[in-house]
Amino acid sequence: MIAIDGSFGEGGGQILRTSLALSLVTGKPFTIENIRSGRSRPGLMRQHLTAVCAAMDVGQATVNGAEIGSQRLSFAPQPVRAGCFHFSVGTAGSATLVLQTVLPALIVADEPSSVVLEGGTHNPYAPPYDFIDRVFLPLLSRSGPSFAARLERPGFYPAGGGRFAVEIIPVPQLCGFELLERGELTHCEARALVAQLPRSIGERELTRLRKGLSLKQHNWRVEEIGQSRGPGNALVVELVYEQVTELFTGFGERRVTAETVADRAAKQVGRYLAAGVPVGPQLADQLLIPLAMAGWGKFRTVKPTAHTTTNLEVIKQFLDVEMSIERVGDDAVEIELNGERR
Ligand code: AMP
Repeated sequence: MIAIDGSFGEGGGQILRTSLALSLVTGKPFTIENIRSGRSRPGLMRQHLTAVCAAMDVGQATVNGAEIGSQRLSFAPQPVRAGCFHFSVGTAGSATLVLQTVLPALIVADEPSSVVLEGGTHNPYAPPYDFIDRVFLPLLSRSGPSFAARLERPGFYPAGGGRFAVEIIPVPQLCGFELLERGELTHCEARALVAQLPRSIGERELTRLRKGLSLKQHNWRVEEIGQSRGPGNALVVELVYEQVTELFTGFGERRVTAETVADRAAKQVGRYLAAGVPVGPQLADQLLIPLAMAGWGKFRTVKPTAHTTTNLEVIKQFLDVEMSIERVGDDAVEIELNGERR
């Protein structure tokens, strides 16, 4: 039985999600203690519990400790069952992180799957739906599987109520890839999403972003969202290069000005532009699981985050994989994974 310490490294929900994902992929059972002990409200929150239940469903698993607030869990899966799934967080907790939990198993399952997810789609500290659709799934499809994703309704904190669907066509085995260059910038899009809030918020964000970034401005626009359950705002900047698409988001919050939201997005974009690497900090930690499953992969990214180094360690507990991180610039590293194919 694999024993995971949830307080290790970054100490957040990702340790749990990676463990669930790779337990499903490998069939290896695990226990985890000190779940999210590094967070202000430790233990399983609604979103994590939904991820556990989703993994339980996909892997027909036997589980102990699946309760709100629980800091200990044991998980023993059976073979993965592809099919039609519907997972609902029930709060504004991130639904994209629930997808992150079951996706690795479903992309190498025997049959296609169709997953409907409900909850938050644009949450701070989680991949927004746009990142999944524009960045993560297209890159993942380079390793073999194919996807069609559709956002039916965005969900913002605190009202939630978002809904999206992903169709997954799996492959028996993922193949690795390398991503060392980004190529030329071919398109730069910025969308200020505004739900049940004045349009002027989005306009101010775009004005500020224009001042903070000197980029070609294809299609910078405010998108007013009619069908949201509650108010929300996110500023989504998409950079399309010849070899990769990256996306950075500033999230609107109460008592945070539109200008600050734009500055936060501009800071992330500015760092990425300066680093000259294809893979941004969040994409880096999310690429590790598929590349480790493929048995090989190599990419260049900014200095690794605690999420990336922690994820590497958790992956090693489930898969026989070697990883190297080599510095190749001031804010640039090359990460290579080598190991058994799964
Ligand atoms: P945790 O904090 O442990 O729950 O993990 C959060 C996960 O969400 C990590 O995989 C991050 O890379 C990812 N994430 C957080 N913010 C963003 C963002 N703005 N865009 C894409 N992914 C994100």
